Amino acid sequence: MKKKLVYLSLLALLLTSCGIRAQDGAEKVTAAIFAMDTVMDFTIYGSDEHLDSAKSFISALESELSVTDEGSAIYALNRSGSATLSEDAADLLGKALEVCKLTNGALDLSIYPIVRAWGFTTGEYAVPDSETLSELLAKVDYSRITLDNSTRTVTLDDGMEIDLGSVTKGYVGDKITASLRDNGVSSALLNLGGNVQALGTKPDGSKWRVAVQNPLGDGSIGVLEISDLAVITSGGYERYFEENGETYWHIIDPATGSPARSGLVSVTIIGKSGLLCDGLSTALFVMGLDDAVQFWRENGGFDMILVSDVGQVSITTGLEESFTLTPQDSIKPDIAVITK
Ligand code: AMP
Ligand code: MG
Repeated sequence: MKKKLVYLSLLALLLTSCGIRAQDGAEKVTAAIFAMDTVMDFTIYGSDEHLDSAKSFISALESELSVTDEGSAIYALNRSGSATLSEDAADLLGKALEVCKLTNGALDLSIYPIVRAWGFTTGEYAVPDSETLSELLAKVDYSRITLDNSTRTVTLDDGMEIDLGSVTKGYVGDKITASLRDNGVSSALLNLGGNVQALGTKPDGSKWRVAVQNPLGDGSIGVLEISDLAVITSGGYERYFEENGETYWHIIDPATGSPARSGLVSVTIIGKSGLLCDGLSTALFVMGLDDAVQFWRENGGFDMILVSDVGQVSITTGLEESFTLTPQDSIKPDIAVITK
């Protein structure tokens, strides 16, 4: 673990940054940074100042929301049951709690003690016994997280702990693209550890091409052509361990306290709000195909690509033109189209 941290800090020091003049006069600036436990790649048709302000936004939010950094507001909250948040963090928490409610608790920010018990926070993996799980499950209930919007104070019931990791990258994408747009940028692609947020199109007017990772093998299952959208994936392949021939991944069903085994191995949500897409990618993974389809029919406002454990790809009808399947042995050649 220590070795990994050293390597990652070195990577953080090796921030790459370069500028190339694009044909229409805007400068292409790029950077790769390690933040929020992942590698982020930015391509912005703007200036170095735009990159710098994106980086500062991320590091400020990260130091406030980290569950492991002793100086963070969330660390303090998880120990004392109360903390006052910055405007951005309170905004994020308020919106995330709405997604918890919308998904009837399939997304639950208070799942953190269970994620830790499985070892996903440290890499010291272990299968908790059922007694431990039921004790911890008693502390899982997003409706016992209270946010006072006037003071930006958050309070938790006794023994509860929260983590915003399931929604933060989506929110970061929203805030950075909004800020770039306000500052005159009309073309950018942010890749936040596989979660993509596009601002506008490429400078030549063509759409951004975003690959969707194959959760059952190498490469991608296909390519999406998008502009002004977030494309956010939750997959079992992102973080998992194996024990006695069983695979245990990091997306937990709050109803059982165990990794969600819904028959889906990846869920990609495509929509305008990165935060909503991020929350829904986690929640719909927990729900499984049938409930995810029902949720989409009832709520709408987004598209999705679902991959089942037997390699069946299902897409909502809005993606029929923009998604192209790449043939893969592990993936069935016919896409199922979900209609209203
Ligand atoms: P994501 O990659 O956005 O799907 O977020 C997954 C991360 O959120 C995991 O690594 C856990 O820390 C946390 N998590 C796992 N299951 C849930 C859940 N049901 N609700 C909220 N957060 C979760
Ligand atoms: Mg998510």
